Formats: sequence, C-alpha cells, structure tokens
Amino acid sequence: MNIILLGPPGAGKGTQARHLVEKRNMIQLSTGDMLREAKDSGSEMGNRVAEVMARGDLVTDDIVIGLIKEKISGEKQGGFIFDGFPRTLNQANGLEKIMGSFKHSLERAISLYADEDALVDRLIKRGEDSGRSDDTSNIIRNRQKIYWQQTAPLLDFYEER
Ligand code: AMP
Repeated sequence: MNIILLGPPGAGKGTQARHLVEKRNMIQLSTGDMLREAKDSGSEMGNRVAEVMARGDLVTDDIVIGLIKEKISGEKQGGFIFDGFPRTLNQANGLEKIMGSFKHSLERAISLYADEDALVDRLIKRGEDSGRSDDTSNIIRNRQKIYWQQTAPLLDFYEER
C-alpha cells in the first residue's frame, strides 16, 4: 500500500510514518528530511533551499518533485509513506504522473490534525529538544499559515479521488 500523510506541521506525520516503517516495513519518503540532508551536505541545491526553509516557506515544486522521483525510481516495490509531500496541487499532480510512470498506485491519503495551539506548543518543544532552527514561534506560525493556504486544498483533491 502507498499512502500519503497530510496535516499541518506538528500533527504527527513523521512520528506515524516511523511507526509504519518499524511495524509494516514501509518506506518513509519525507521531503523535509531530504531537504535537511541536502542543506547539511552543503550541496548546491542545499544552499539554494536553506534560506527558504529558514523562513518556513515552501521550496519550489520542481526541486521536491525531482527528489521524490529519484527516490521512487530507486525502489523496486512500493510500500511508500509520503510524509510532507505533496504540499501543493502542482506537487500532487506531479506525484500522480511519477507513480503512474513506475506503475505504482496511491491507495490512501490520511489527514492528521490537532488544534493549532497544541501544534505550536509541540513544535516549540521539538525545537528545544532537537535544535531544529525552523521550530521557533514566528516561523512555526508561518508554516501553519502556509499549510492552510497551499496544502489544505489537497484535502478536497484527495477526497474526490
Ligand atoms: P517538514 O520537515 O516537512 O516540516 O519540512 C521542513 C521544510 O522543508 C518546510 O518548511 C519547507 O521549507 C521544506 N519542505 C519540505 N517538504 C516540502 C514540500 N513538499 N514542498 C515544499 N517545501 C517543502
């Protein structure tokens, strides 16, 4: 089964994805993790996205679609959990094309949610524990706003499917 985890930052997508990796042997595809790796490696792309991520804005669709395509092309079987991707309608359409071209299907999109104050509290705590530099209150609020503006429309998109 290939599934998409949707939900605002802090809803628990990464946590649930890691449970599914352990319990069901699924493959977690987190664009946030991939972008942080690129940033830490100091690659040209990593340097390009660093500022955008620091603000809590979305990096371009082309970059994240490219990252996902590369990962999927390296896996023979499915069992993917998309965590933090897609985040725009353009990415969702890109994902449909990629999955089709590798003869994979998408079985479920699951929406996780928690009250915004709880989300912000969780992320502030995560920032203190992990040192993630975008887990500070102004940037967290921006990431929540962007979720509602750009990603929430995907709830209708997947409901229709
Ligand atoms: P996350 O770990 O999913 O919270 O992502 C951290 C940051 O990486 C986001 O705030 C964005 O700047 C960037 N990012 C992650 N996934 C995407 C995506 N699918 N589209 C655009 N930007 C993304």
